[in-house]
Amino acid sequence: MLTILAAMSTDTLTLPVLDDAAIADAGFVQLPVDPTLDMFAEIERLKKEKNAVLLAHYYQEADIQDVADYVGDSLGLSREAAKTEADIIVFAGVHFMAETAKILNPSKKVILPDLNAGCSLADSCPPDEFAAFRAEYPDHIVISYINCSAAIKAQTDIICTSSNAKHLVEQIPDDQPIIFAPDKNLGRWLIKETGRDMVLWDGSCIVHEIFSEQKLVRLKTRHPNAPVLAHPECEEPVLRLADHIGSTSSIRRFATENPATEFIVATEAGILHQMQKDNPGKTFIPAPPDNGCACNDCPHMKLNTLEKLYLCLEYEKPTIEMEESLRLRALKPIERMLEMSEGVK
Ligand code: SF4
Repeated sequence: MLTILAAMSTDTLTLPVLDDAAIADAGFVQLPVDPTLDMFAEIERLKKEKNAVLLAHYYQEADIQDVADYVGDSLGLSREAAKTEADIIVFAGVHFMAETAKILNPSKKVILPDLNAGCSLADSCPPDEFAAFRAEYPDHIVISYINCSAAIKAQTDIICTSSNAKHLVEQIPDDQPIIFAPDKNLGRWLIKETGRDMVLWDGSCIVHEIFSEQKLVRLKTRHPNAPVLAHPECEEPVLRLADHIGSTSSIRRFATENPATEFIVATEAGILHQMQKDNPGKTFIPAPPDNGCACNDCPHMKLNTLEKLYLCLEYEKPTIEMEESLRLRALKPIERMLEMSEGVK
């Protein structure tokens, strides 16, 4: 019965009342979906009916990217979230990204297909431990990568993304000491790029740390004309082998603008979908991780599925909620980022 209810238009049927405690427990709406349903058409219909905007990160599965209104990296997604006039923001990404959208849009309903979609990097920076760490450096300002919880953003002076981090650090006066959190690999790369000596929090992303230097060297030998494109969350030995280091947006742009016909890509494999769409005649080879797989998927990002997305839109659950005083403290460093990174692509 629930299958039929879930499959039919809200014009013709009243939806079943869902148990919020069960959704909170599972992290998503647990209803069967009619396998014959045209999921793409249904999601489009629901977006229109509810004046909802679907924002998707590059690391989402290809089907979700194809049905999204906007696909981008964290900076682009924050900008879209800040300017949207939709009533509902459906965030196809991980929890901290949906949280950021809520921080920017307190009066809008922000929904995430699966609340379990976390982030190993955000988890590597517990708020209490970070507060104690900050207290050791009272004269430092804090720049935090957007991949952190609202509780860390609330302890931060300026948020950054991988697109604008260098640009933001370069705007800080030379005599102002800086703590950079939570990603130590991005922090090390920034120290190298800017010459600034920052204190780093010891956090990292499981997806970007697992690339195998040895396998990458072998892959380069087999594809000597393929530039290596790497995300700065990768470890130093992998970054040393890269021809271009940058955010997912900059990796995507580089692949389109560079005349090479094949590229090795060291970041989460979801980005390959847009790169292939932009450049149908070029070949994109995912850099191999050190775990026996051929490419590298983020297990958190991939918790979102088309079915969960459909159910989330239909029932407008699960929602992102936040205490107002926390939201206001987390908002300030995001607004500073948006002001300081005008013009950054
Ligand atoms: S790829 Fe890494 S940083 Fe990005 S969401 Fe997954 S675990 Fe977090």
